[in-house]
Amino acid sequence: MSVFTHPDFDHHEQVVFCHDRSSGLRAIIAIHDTTLGPALGGCRMFPYGSDDEALRDVLRLSRGMTLKSSLAGLKLGGGKAVMIGDPHTGKSQALLHAMGDFVDSLGGRYITAADSGTGEPEMQAFAQRTRHVIGATPRTMLDGTIASGDPSPSTALGVFVGLREAVRQRLGRDDLTGLKVAIQGVGHVGLGLARHLKEAGAELWVCDIFDANVQQAVEELGANAVRPHDIYGLDVDVFAPCAMGGILNAETLQSLRAPVIAGAANNQLASTEIGVELQRRNHLYAPDYAINAGGIIDVYYQRIGGSPAQTDTHVRGIAETLREIFERAASSGESTSVVADRLAQERLVGQHAVQKQPQRLQA
Ligand code: NAD
Repeated sequence: MSVFTHPDFDHHEQVVFCHDRSSGLRAIIAIHDTTLGPALGGCRMFPYGSDDEALRDVLRLSRGMTLKSSLAGLKLGGGKAVMIGDPHTGKSQALLHAMGDFVDSLGGRYITAADSGTGEPEMQAFAQRTRHVIGATPRTMLDGTIASGDPSPSTALGVFVGLREAVRQRLGRDDLTGLKVAIQGVGHVGLGLARHLKEAGAELWVCDIFDANVQQAVEELGANAVRPHDIYGLDVDVFAPCAMGGILNAETLQSLRAPVIAGAANNQLASTEIGVELQRRNHLYAPDYAINAGGIIDVYYQRIGGSPAQTDTHVRGIAETLREIFERAASSGESTSVVADRLAQERLVGQHAVQKQPQRLQA
């Protein structure tokens, strides 16, 4: 396994391989870029088939966080962590404490939060070993209720407003009544998105590899259950990937029919070329790190002690960011993913330039 020459290395500042013999923890922490601030990104737990798979995932996710925070206008850098193991059976307090110790050893260069396979209980366990964690304590929501620090409701809201903007752009409609949406993965974000869509009058098709999650969407929201493999070929208006990355690839593109692709999953495109191909086939793709920035925005305001109203306003601003991306892509003929990358890079490069200015001596 190479690291410096890995195709996804992309100038990472630091990659930490973590192993704790007694708890069996195997994890990787990747810090991509701290130009805009400390590297903040979730800690995922997944039963990766190999160390290579875990490394590839964490490097891609970490770089995505740099672009995501930059595009969302946050003073945060990009980083991510992955724990190798089954999130349903592989957790112990000792393992989580060991992970907390590794996060702490980085002295705040990396700040962790919940991600796929982790949530508030895991953040609480980390918090017993490090202060560089967000999402361990409850907070007040916009409606005055007390909720956990889990940012996924904000992610779901951001995806919903972003999806609505994509539908407006591609299908020319504001009313979502009767809109047909297929959601891949009804976990924390997918189910939250499904609830927003149901409230707006949409019709839902859902799949998940965890049967209980499908069952909940069917019973609570009247969603139609489909088998995971069948989700791509449905004759729907929107395909919302809310499970894992890499699902927009040469194979799935053959069956994909939805004119709009708008969902929460990170790293949806298997490669940059797939983004171009989507545009060529007239699918409007909402770039993943633009539409799913609600979670990082939420976590940012938890970190600085911002109000629920600030979080809500900033999350809803995702629609405007997407509108700018869609409009620029439409006028330049480029793919939406290329345009989003450029917008995010522009802000980063601008900041690099500012940091490289010689400091004037104070008189
Ligand atoms: P989650 O683990 O709660 O939900 C993911 C769901 O997808 C689970 O129910 C899982 O069983 C299902 N799944 C996994 N593989 C599948 C497959 N091949 N087909 C169908 N279903 C499958 O995670 P989440 O927090 O809802 O996050 C979902 C996605 O959104 C992830 O890619 C995550 O990185 C991304 N994301 C999440 C947040 C957040 O705030 N939680 C923020 C930004 C991005």
